[in-house]
Amino acid sequence: MKKLALHWQILIGMLFGLVFGFIMLQIDGGPEFVGKWIKWLGTVFVKLLKLIAIPLILASLIKGISDLKDISKFANIGLRTIGIYVLTTVIAISIGLVLVNVIQPGDGVSDETIAKLTETYAGDSGVQSKISEASRQKESGPLDFIVDMVPDNAVAALSNNKLMLQVIFFAIFLGISMLLIGEEKAKPLKDFFDSLNDVVLKMVDLIMLSAPFAVFALLANVVVSSGDPDLLYALLKYAGVVVLGLFLMVVFYSILVATITKKNPFWFLKEISPAQLLAFSTSSSAATLPVTMERVEEHIGVDKEVSSFVLPVGATINMDGTSLYQAVAAVFIAQALGFDLTFADQLTIILTALLASIGSAAVPGAGMVMLVIVLESVGFPADKLAIGLALIFAVDRPLDMCRTVINVTGDATVSMLVAKSVGKLGKPKPKEWDDHYEEVK
Ligand code: ASP
Repeated sequence: MKKLALHWQILIGMLFGLVFGFIMLQIDGGPEFVGKWIKWLGTVFVKLLKLIAIPLILASLIKGISDLKDISKFANIGLRTIGIYVLTTVIAISIGLVLVNVIQPGDGVSDETIAKLTETYAGDSGVQSKISEASRQKESGPLDFIVDMVPDNAVAALSNNKLMLQVIFFAIFLGISMLLIGEEKAKPLKDFFDSLNDVVLKMVDLIMLSAPFAVFALLANVVVSSGDPDLLYALLKYAGVVVLGLFLMVVFYSILVATITKKNPFWFLKEISPAQLLAFSTSSSAATLPVTMERVEEHIGVDKEVSSFVLPVGATINMDGTSLYQAVAAVFIAQALGFDLTFADQLTIILTALLASIGSAAVPGAGMVMLVIVLESVGFPADKLAIGLALIFAVDRPLDMCRTVINVTGDATVSMLVAKSVGKLGKPKPKEWDDHYEEVK
């Protein structure tokens, strides 16, 4: 019997998770049951993905760079990547701004709803922690990100998932230095990282065997921890604008894939769908990164020389979905609270949302922290920030799930475009977890 494709298995797991979550919501003690007995499955899965993220970035980036025949190629890939990332993000923000200005979801929100949302969420520790986190981030200078990118202790950088850019920096530095000592001398180290890279990719295959069960647990938990459904309904128009914008981004990526790489966009979306579904279930592009890398390299055919740089960098700095959401959310809050935004304010939003998407961490809810900075950039009164965030807090988790899908899809698209432009888009070579199982059985 033919095995069901992975994306179908995951989708079925998600569906069961949703249904199970809703049933548990109706039962006395159901949410507690999910918290105690089901949630752990998802937590372990996300931990496993995070566990292999740093070894994978390190091994694959060092392998990618030490395979280069010519260092100038790397600068070429780097410049193209950053250029295309900035371009797609600006387009995402612009789509968000156009939609929110045309549809004006904030105008219809009644005072009663605003009062109810404020009462429920403004004092919530979730909202307050976003505001204080944002003020901590705001204190850093404009070029501090360069300073932050350079580790002063390699082992410390490798031991902290939040320091992904430092790991990338260290791997590039090591890879380039390996090229410069000559092939013969670099060979033992290169063989080591080549092999480590294969091992970690195999770990991804093994972890993915549990994906359908993990997404079941993740989604069941999201459902039982969601807020009051009435408040969700009140925000339906706002959420609809964000989702419509995100959908238009998928159309935009598909056009790029079809016209520039000449590949079928439906094939592209199908091949990366397991990564998208995990992005949706985990709300974290960082946790999804190992799967995105595996799909893009083995199932799309992007060479490691490109994907090993483009994808980890993308997971940390390229967030099209997040920046689109920030633009829509900022204008929505302004509309709902009667705060006028001039055209210049909207341009400021483009710039700050672009910087915010670079600065947002690839973890659940990070986009909302940077939203505070976007709001402040247009002069939004500090004393109303909590009310502003309270307005959108109820739907933030589902929107986070959707925008993370776009963040991951954007990274995968750009890796394909860059690969095509430097002649590194080849034939897919999918591997299964049990390719060598017979030999060790
Ligand atoms: N959860 C998003 C990500 O990991 C970031 C955000 O928008 O909150 O890509």
